[in-house]
Amino acid sequence: MIPPFTARNYELTQFLNARNYIAGEWCDPRTSKDSIQVINKRHGKPMSKVLMSGKDDVDAAVAAGTAAAREWSKWPIRDRAQVFYRLRAALEKNLDELAWLLSHENGKLFAEAKAEIEKGIECVEYGCSLTNLAAGEKLEVSRGVTCEQVYSPLGVVAGVVPFNFPNMVPLWMLPQALVAGNAFVLKPSEQVPLSTMRLAQLLHECGLPKGVLNIVQGGQPVVEALCDHPQIKALGFVGSTRVARAVYGRASATGKRALCLGGAKNHLIVVPDADLELTADNIVASFVGCAGQRCMAASVLIAVGDCDAIIEAVRIRTAKLVIGTDVGPVTSKASVQRITKYIDTAQQMGAKVIVDGRQKQGDPGGFWVGPTILDHVTPAMPASCEEIFGPVLSIVRVANLEGAIEFENANPYGNAASIYTTSGDVAKRVMESVEAGMCGINVGVPVPREPFGFGGWNDSAFGAGNMTGWDGFRFWTRQRKVTAKWALQKDHTWMS
Ligand code: NAD
Repeated sequence: MIPPFTARNYELTQFLNARNYIAGEWCDPRTSKDSIQVINKRHGKPMSKVLMSGKDDVDAAVAAGTAAAREWSKWPIRDRAQVFYRLRAALEKNLDELAWLLSHENGKLFAEAKAEIEKGIECVEYGCSLTNLAAGEKLEVSRGVTCEQVYSPLGVVAGVVPFNFPNMVPLWMLPQALVAGNAFVLKPSEQVPLSTMRLAQLLHECGLPKGVLNIVQGGQPVVEALCDHPQIKALGFVGSTRVARAVYGRASATGKRALCLGGAKNHLIVVPDADLELTADNIVASFVGCAGQRCMAASVLIAVGDCDAIIEAVRIRTAKLVIGTDVGPVTSKASVQRITKYIDTAQQMGAKVIVDGRQKQGDPGGFWVGPTILDHVTPAMPASCEEIFGPVLSIVRVANLEGAIEFENANPYGNAASIYTTSGDVAKRVMESVEAGMCGINVGVPVPREPFGFGGWNDSAFGAGNMTGWDGFRFWTRQRKVTAKWALQKDHTWMS
């Protein structure tokens, strides 16, 4: 049993070591020699440890899933969904405890952690609604002949998730995959393995049968074993583009279906007619929220023409933010170094640092970079085109809307793009032209709310469709078509 987390403030608090969850039992890896520490990012000190699993553990988890799926897939969908109705209640009841655990292992502020779990609850609600949405279609296709489509589970499926949303991203996958009747093997990020353990514990308490959800803790060897395993029929991945591309290739090579979401470089286009207050508030919230470690975070502000008043409002708001209170730490010392290097390089290449977070410090030992704004960034600077994944906003200035669209389109990523304007015509032109799967009009973090599916384009996603919503349900199921004729007909066609 994984007990509740006890901290109710940001003070360093220890938690259990990360464990695997196989066939309903908490266990340690079979043959692991390696371990890594789970670091509290605010203090830079260990709060737990992960023993890294290997192929043996994946094999055991798949065997448990295979056995469990036989019974689970026979449960009526309404009964499977009941587990998620109870999970919804459990997440709400334990919201504060789960948010504190998430905040401690990931570093995000308590309010941000709470918002993450609330978004996870929305995903659970979508899973519950499948009892109504997932009715198969049926049609008389020829006289006396009906054709019916039913959604069947695949068997054992798997998910690999990143460090930045340890609670929500698993909930992008589990409700649809499990309500559909599959068994699941989940590999959390080794940097933040603890929230998923509490999630699994709650699912157990909500009546999920043993073996339907299995967790294997670890890194690359576990992911590769999941990709290669012949009995895993589908693999969902969320993480960086480099790994998403490799995982997609390896998983697809074994014939399994794969959907792998990758990194991002999100652009906010601002034109001079934009509403100053709304735009400035929104831009700051988008690039600073979760310390910029969101795949939907604003990264580049493309200012069209004279937007100086809006840029000044963004600068003033950003400069007032208090590190540790308004902005959390980033995920590691290596992240601090990487983010700082992007700022240093842009400055050396001629960008103006109008808000400088490089020397900002929160609690001693933590991984801190304050919000930073770089103005007059040019396409030659790495900050303009590479994913920084920290609280850094690069401002690129262009003469007209065409220049803004051209700049956005030149980037290989395709997760999010937004336009700030009061002109419907400008908004329409941008929405028709940008190369991004999730777009905003006066919205800085254009995450599609349920039931709309989450997924990017181009180098931000490998595989077809979206991870959430109806596409998610289709991804985790196969469609069986049943054609039936019960009586001989006088009229004959080619098929009756
Ligand atoms: P990451 O790619 O380093 O890790 C993601 C997962 O892959 C982890 O579980 C990790 O253990 C595993 N992994 C790491 N290296 C691997 C390798 N070589 N082979 C196989 N598996 C490997 O990503 P991260 O640093 O945890 O998360 C941040 C990244 O995720 C950012 O790029 C961010 O944009 C992206 N992200 C994308 C979305 C989206 O929906 N598109 C959502 C959240 C995060």
